[in-house]
Amino acid sequence: MFFPNFKSLFSFIFDHRCAHCGKPSGGEYICLTCLKKVEPSPEEDIQLNIPYLDGYKTFTHYEGVAKTILHLVKFRAVKHLTREVGKLAAPFLWSYVRSVEPDYVTFVPTNPWRLWFVRGFDQTEEMLKATEVPYRKLIIRSPLPRKPLSRAKSVEERQRLVKGVFNLDRRYLPFLEGKTVLVVDDLLTSGTTASKVAYLFKSVGTKRVFLFAFFRAVGKKR
Ligand SMILES: [Zn+2]
Repeated sequence: MFFPNFKSLFSFIFDHRCAHCGKPSGGEYICLTCLKKVEPSPEEDIQLNIPYLDGYKTFTHYEGVAKTILHLVKFRAVKHLTREVGKLAAPFLWSYVRSVEPDYVTFVPTNPWRLWFVRGFDQTEEMLKATEVPYRKLIIRSPLPRKPLSRAKSVEERQRLVKGVFNLDRRYLPFLEGKTVLVVDDLLTSGTTASKVAYLFKSVGTKRVFLFAFFRAVGKKR
């Protein structure tokens, strides 16, 4: 759509080969065998202590085929894989919804510049749609172009980068006090974004804020 040449080059290379194992895939980006290797995060996962957040759950670890999938979605704009991820994650999100009983489910919006000019869709919203969990857009993201969080060199720099990026949709402010909100995000790394977003809700009187992330980056303590 936005980069037709790049896209056709990509499909030329990968059309009939799995982007993860390289074996014939029947025209899919990821073959069924690899897709089945996406495993749920273990129950005994070490829980990060994320300020202002009352708890979180993740669907799968960001490694192996799961990492290939999120890369295809985020950096190659392979939109239909969001549906596959959403369908795989759906039972886990639904079970978390039953356990925390949120009044609202919402998601962390992607950087609008990426949404409009690079990817053409919001990967987290697309995955969330595929789970069929009803949600509302409570969070607004400022369109200021900024350095990606992944390039931040320290926790302090990450915190500076997320400051002022997110705001709550003012139309919902009267309805958030005393409520429980479940925020969905694509990738949980250090919890900086999750904490910032949880703080926003807590600052307007929301009682409990939980997070569900489709992917959890492993090997990083903070
Ligand atoms: Zn494969």
